[in-house]
Amino acid sequence: MRLVALAGGTGAAKLLRGLDTLLERGAMTVVGNTGDDAEVWGLHVSPDLDTVCYTLGGLLDEERGWGLRDESFRTLGEMVRFGEPTWFNLGDRDLATHLHRTRLLAEGRSLSEVTAKLAADLGVRHAVLPMSDQPVRTRVLGPDGWLGFQEYFVREKTQVEVRAVEYAGAPEARPAPGLVEAIGAADAVLVCPSNPVTSVGPILAVPGIVEALHGTRAPVLAISPIVGGRAVSGPAGRLMAARGLPVSALGIAQGYAPWLDILIIDDEDAALAPSIEAAGARPVVASTLMTGRVEEMRLARRILETLA
Ligand code: GDP
Repeated sequence: MRLVALAGGTGAAKLLRGLDTLLERGAMTVVGNTGDDAEVWGLHVSPDLDTVCYTLGGLLDEERGWGLRDESFRTLGEMVRFGEPTWFNLGDRDLATHLHRTRLLAEGRSLSEVTAKLAADLGVRHAVLPMSDQPVRTRVLGPDGWLGFQEYFVREKTQVEVRAVEYAGAPEARPAPGLVEAIGAADAVLVCPSNPVTSVGPILAVPGIVEALHGTRAPVLAISPIVGGRAVSGPAGRLMAARGLPVSALGIAQGYAPWLDILIIDDEDAALAPSIEAAGARPVVASTLMTGRVEEMRLARRILETLA
């Protein structure tokens, strides 16, 4: 089974960890969102790629849900002295990833080459690709103007009214090398339970990726990140509402309708099954809350059974 998975951060990482326990080495190609990438202290930070790699490498700080285990923040403390911005919370161990990535990029390597090396060095058993080697940056329009995604998410803690979202640079970007081919050769494409506007949206905005989803013979299966009319975590609900989508699994089906084949919805949303079918996707009702390893594996197994 060759799977391609379109992935944001936390929700995706949990599902991918469940799938990793059931699949052979190399069976997955993870396509990570880089619309959240940011420059911090002159370093290139790729938060979603790092969350996926730290999780699949068994290195994630599971209590915080981001960054590395056994982390310390002494460099951050020193940066205060110099008046550098410290709201992004870069840890000392985490810094090594960003220093290495930034040096390799400065030497002229592409983000996909660098990401492949980081994933292998961090112990990931699968291929990890950024959505594009070209910069795409998600920006959010608040009442006082445009904010970079991390300014919105980390600095403002999403407590800003969102009037618009844009993916700067997307029209000029190209899918990472091998990405379209991987979708074409896959046995299935998964759209992880990730924020549809700020994690999956930027991936879909790269010209050529939606066309690949239309063109592949593989079934495209998404897992709803919305359960019981609310996001399990994060601002997905508010961002979907700002886009005019219903905040429900049906809204996910409608947003992905042109190319979606199967939508996994939570037991709690079973009553939405007929309307999801009417929106054009086959609904599969399952327990989708990944509160621990057992639940992650159970959902992963259910997905593989659905695709069998
Ligand atoms: P965020 O919205 O910026 O936090 O970005 P992510 O793309 O990392 O989004 C995580 C998404 O996954 C959110 O929309 C959550 O609702 C969803 N999510 C997180 N954990 C779970 C889970 O255990 N089950 C399901 N179905 N969705 C989840």
